[in-house]
Amino acid sequence: MTQYTPMIQQYLRIKAEHQDAFLFFRLGDFYEMFFEDAIQASKELEITLTSRDGGNERIPMCGVPYHSADNYITQLVNRGFKIAICEQTEDPKQAKGVVRREVVQLITPGTVMNDGLIKEKENNYIVSISRFDDLTYGLAANDLTTGETMATLLSGTCEDVISEAASLSPKEIVVSSSMPEGERKLIKERLAITLSFEEQSHLPDAFTHLAKHIDQVKLLDVFGRLLHYLVRTQKRSLDHLQPLKHYQVNEFMKIDMNSKRNLELVETIREKRRKGSLVWFLDHTVTAMGGRLLKQWVERPLLSKTTINHRLSIVETLIKQFFEREALRDQLKQVYDLERLAGRVAFGNVNARDLVQLRKSLGKIPEIKQLVSELEDECAQKLAASIKPCNELNGLLQEALEENPPVSVKEGNMIKDGFHKELDKYRDASKNGKSWIASLQQKERQETGIKSLKIGYNRVFGYYIEVTKANLHLLAEGRYERKQTLTNAERFITPELKEKEALILEAEDKMMELEYELFSNLREQVKTFIPELQELAKTLSEIDVLQGFASVSEENRFCRPEFSDNREIRINEGRHPVVEKMLDDREYVANDVMMDEDREILLITGPNMSGKSTYMRQLALIAIMGQIGCFVPATSAVLPIFDQVFTRIGAADDLAAGQSTFMVEMLEANYAITKATQDSLILLDEIGRGTSTYDGMALAQSIIEYIHNEVRAKTLFSTHYHELTVLEKELSRVKNVHVKAVEEKGRVVFLHKVHDGSADKSYGIHVAQLANLPDRLIERAAAILKELERPVHPNGQTVQAEQVNESEAAAQLAAAEEDNEAQLSFFGGSKKKSLESFSKEEKAVL
Ligand code: ADP
Repeated sequence: MTQYTPMIQQYLRIKAEHQDAFLFFRLGDFYEMFFEDAIQASKELEITLTSRDGGNERIPMCGVPYHSADNYITQLVNRGFKIAICEQTEDPKQAKGVVRREVVQLITPGTVMNDGLIKEKENNYIVSISRFDDLTYGLAANDLTTGETMATLLSGTCEDVISEAASLSPKEIVVSSSMPEGERKLIKERLAITLSFEEQSHLPDAFTHLAKHIDQVKLLDVFGRLLHYLVRTQKRSLDHLQPLKHYQVNEFMKIDMNSKRNLELVETIREKRRKGSLVWFLDHTVTAMGGRLLKQWVERPLLSKTTINHRLSIVETLIKQFFEREALRDQLKQVYDLERLAGRVAFGNVNARDLVQLRKSLGKIPEIKQLVSELEDECAQKLAASIKPCNELNGLLQEALEENPPVSVKEGNMIKDGFHKELDKYRDASKNGKSWIASLQQKERQETGIKSLKIGYNRVFGYYIEVTKANLHLLAEGRYERKQTLTNAERFITPELKEKEALILEAEDKMMELEYELFSNLREQVKTFIPELQELAKTLSEIDVLQGFASVSEENRFCRPEFSDNREIRINEGRHPVVEKMLDDREYVANDVMMDEDREILLITGPNMSGKSTYMRQLALIAIMGQIGCFVPATSAVLPIFDQVFTRIGAADDLAAGQSTFMVEMLEANYAITKATQDSLILLDEIGRGTSTYDGMALAQSIIEYIHNEVRAKTLFSTHYHELTVLEKELSRVKNVHVKAVEEKGRVVFLHKVHDGSADKSYGIHVAQLANLPDRLIERAAAILKELERPVHPNGQTVQAEQVNESEAAAQLAAAEEDNEAQLSFFGGSKKKSLESFSKEEKAVL
């Protein structure tokens, strides 16, 4: 190490403690990186790699300017990297030898506070997972920007805890290195996020008050680990952390990771965008806090009928009382993000403008409280009563803060006149001094008779009297001291002027210093109100989400769902809200869903693109919407409370993924049937298509039988194995339904209407014929089909079966080619001729 310069030695010492992070090493106006960090950062950030004399050798170096570092930090954190910010912690002028430097903060994906990195309407959770010897897992979560903390214990597998973590969409996971490597790997892979280590797990002393109501050692352990990590990385005040909320996983409907993805609850499958997701559709909130809470609710629907009905009843009232709702929206719009503001207050990085915003927000609270109390609903009344307006804080801010303070907290003009006597005194002194100087100009002009005489100010010389060269002779000898010579004029000072100047400058200096001090005090005082602000934020977010539900429900003609006790589903004219919204020029075809103890499994048949998976998703979304307390897209709906939703719905990319699809399919099906209860909802789309016909069909059938006999969950099962429709006869609670398409003036029209009974099986071949596939091919397909129409498992026909599978697939594919359109346009125009060669009967079949 000795061959390096002292500074590089210092660098290496600090870097050794932060191996897993980019070390941003402050050097004057830059953060520099050296060695490997420099090489990697220059690639990631596309900045120039240079080198520097490091002693005996030149070492790689690259750097980013201090003032634009945020941008680079954002890029790195977004890619899952960590950054250790190393600052100079002593004045370089006073340093003997190398300036002292220390890491002042570690920025990691789960602990960022930068505006560019956190999404307004999303929480930024960091989660710790502990595994205990008895095979239970603990999970603790925190959002540093809002201070929210929670924890739970699960007994289950690593998959279960991953699934629970996934429902929080965390940005970083903290584990102990004693966790088995296989599990660590699984967690990292499944969640695809940064994995960090923390070995300490007892609750740090400074935080025991956050968990004083908790006596379970395991909860304290997993929460303690998380806190240790936060303390270690943040190195700053964590005063805004909220008391630990202990929740049970069985308070909420379980939606595993795949289902959340398949149902596009928070983002779309293909583009991974919010637009097109359920959250996007439902989001009529007007505050960022409300937006975040909505996402939390969608990811965790409730199981308590009472709580759901409370929400629904407020939503219903808000729909009825339109004017109150509109007024409420207007007021809420003017409320700042109090939750995140509280976080920034704790970190000490709010300025006077933020506090003015806070004051304005608090000013809206009485009106909001009033409006909520005017809602004619018992639950709304309770909500209104729980709004605490933070009067004391509001009063303090009213008294202390100016209307339009500057961004900087070091320039004064933040504190109101009359708030602090000494400040007023300095202000007076400065004001008086300035008016004295203003009158001096008049006086000097009169005494000297120089009309052009001016009094001015600059930073170097302070106040001066300026006289043009032509008038110099008019000045009295000895009274003026020359300070500066310009081309046409001279600048002078007088003892009297300097005396006043000293007074003014001193007053101004003191004024700014005092204002900064007063402001810092104010900030400290605001800190003591953080819990109150957080409480208020929670209530306001809830009101915001509920008014949003009312607004979206009214706009889209939703109805209030009722909940049955006998696991019955009666949905009249249900719709898939997002698909409906996306169909711009076409009408959405509403469909009923009727299921009860005699109809537990619906076997759905119908051609590709007819709307099978939309029908399935529609049911899941209606169930989820109902259980978060929103009205649902139907004319009437009776629903059970579902404890879990499972889906295996093929996405387009699965098709391309080939053989592995089948494995995924089986894993997901297995997950569903082993975890589901009779209160669950299972959606299985085209199970078995990833393997050969008989394999697939056999598996599909046995899965249906298993669910029918063992699980008894409500299940929608779509299939192109027509043969499965006979199951209706064998299994009493299985019913066939189908989605129909018709041929109209030479075009195939998908009606998207779901009817009882099974679809016509020869549909695929007819579509292929319409698509103008060669006649010989069609004939051959028809012949093979005929063979297949024999009993389901004939012996020795494997070869034929596979041939059929291919042509069937070709026919289906042809029909799907012109996707997404209700009408297959390739049946129009020149190809129409082939259609006319159809017999009447054949057309009727279509
Ligand atoms: P399948 O699963 O049968 O292949 P999808 O459910 O994917 O079919 O539906 C295909 C397309 O048909 C959807 O993208 C949508 O545009 C349209 N669609 C589905 N159901 C309906 C409906 N009920 N009303 C109107 N259009 C629908």
